[in-house]
Amino acid sequence: MPDKSFDIGIVGGGIIGLSTAMHLLEKYPKLKVGVIEKDAEIASQQTGHNSGVIHSGIYYKPGSFKAKFCVEGRESMYRFCADNGIKVVRCGKVIVATREEELPRLKTLHERGTANGVPDLKIVEPPELKEIEPHTFALRALWAPHTGIVNFKDVAAVYARRVKAGSGEVMTGTRLRKIARSGNRIVVETTRGSFEVKHIINCAGLHSDRVARLMGIDPGVRIIPFRGEYYTLKKEKQYLVKGLIYPVPDPAFPFLGVHFTNNVKGYVEAGPNAVLAMAREGYRKRDINLSDLVGTVSYMGFWRMTARDWRTGFMEMNRSARKGVFVRDLRKLIPEIKASDLGGGGSGVRAQAVDGTGKLLDDFHIKSVENAVHVLNAPSPGATSSLVIGRYIVDMARQTFNLN
Ligand SMILES: Cc1cc2nc3c(=O)[nH]c(=O)nc-3n(C[C@H](O)[C@H](O)[C@H](O)COP(=O)(O)OP(=O)(O)OC[C@H]3O[C@@H](n4cnc5c(N)ncnc54)[C@H](O)[C@@H]3O)c2cc1C
Repeated sequence: MPDKSFDIGIVGGGIIGLSTAMHLLEKYPKLKVGVIEKDAEIASQQTGHNSGVIHSGIYYKPGSFKAKFCVEGRESMYRFCADNGIKVVRCGKVIVATREEELPRLKTLHERGTANGVPDLKIVEPPELKEIEPHTFALRALWAPHTGIVNFKDVAAVYARRVKAGSGEVMTGTRLRKIARSGNRIVVETTRGSFEVKHIINCAGLHSDRVARLMGIDPGVRIIPFRGEYYTLKKEKQYLVKGLIYPVPDPAFPFLGVHFTNNVKGYVEAGPNAVLAMAREGYRKRDINLSDLVGTVSYMGFWRMTARDWRTGFMEMNRSARKGVFVRDLRKLIPEIKASDLGGGGSGVRAQAVDGTGKLLDDFHIKSVENAVHVLNAPSPGATSSLVIGRYIVDMARQTFNLN
């Protein structure tokens, strides 16, 4: 006999699961919604280990979900933070081209951002750049004044509060173990008892492919974890960065390259890189989880990705192992940075979906199957876009679950 029953069970108390729960209850206040989160706290995985940047929407292919959700999500996020007393700073960001061959890519970024509807983007020459970021160097830069910073954990906490204020429950320390189906009934077995639900929304981040498989679905992708490591700028050197300083990214790779980010916690981070992690929650270099590792190396998509991108992978590993290489890349952005200016920092692990051909999925990937919706790829700018993604999932749930 199940311990409780819900109309909709959401797996994952990260920013996407909580936004979805909040929007479900806003639209359907009578629904019983239960969010299960395996960790002792909400937002303790990707949501609690990211750069805290409210992206403006420059990088993404026009027409993609990322482009649409980020541009709309950015302004919704600023409004939400203002309405809920969450500290946020619209500090702006520069993307700096430091080599001749980056100039055409910078121009493409400017065009892309403009096509995506990002307002007030501007190419700036070195004298104007010096006024924005006095310590950086560039041949030319792209200035995006509407990029900002926030602590996404604070945002997720407000989403959770609203869920609990409605007819929702957020159950931390509750890990999904098994899903059993008989007819229209779904019984979710967890470490804290079993629940009967009518529908499931899978927002399990680094474990979302596994949750899909627990429901008997082939997600068509495998989550490959990529750790992003940060250094922090020592206090006496924080004056070197006023806002956010990014390089021109490599278009063949879905990550942005190591950069400097001020954060609302009062320090400056440098990073993150992107190295293959030996565990889905492998926040430290020494973290190894045998079953995660076997899951990665037994996947053909992983080997196809490796065959194609091994050079980039090797460069990332080299930069991770040698602080000097990390510093060399940071010096392209701020020439006066020295290794001694950087102290230890944290890390985050990206849940990157990779398909069977070895392609790293670039866009958000959300799939509905029978009585479930699965969020299978929600990389950056997922946190910026979380309000819009939540609304999108609710709309998908309305159609898939026949909610009225
Ligand atoms: C290094 C890094 C930097 C980033 N920088 C930015 C940025 O600056 N701006 C931005 O917009 N985005 C950024 N992102 C992306 C952003 O963090 C993600 O898009 C967002 O956090 C995804 O939220 P989520 O809820 O899908 O995943 P998560 O926050 O990972 O939440 C998933 C939750 O599911 C839970 N879960 C998993 N399995 C189970 C189970 N079996 N039972 C119960 N619970 C389970 C997990 O414990 C976890 O809490 C960054 C990400 C990383 C890793």
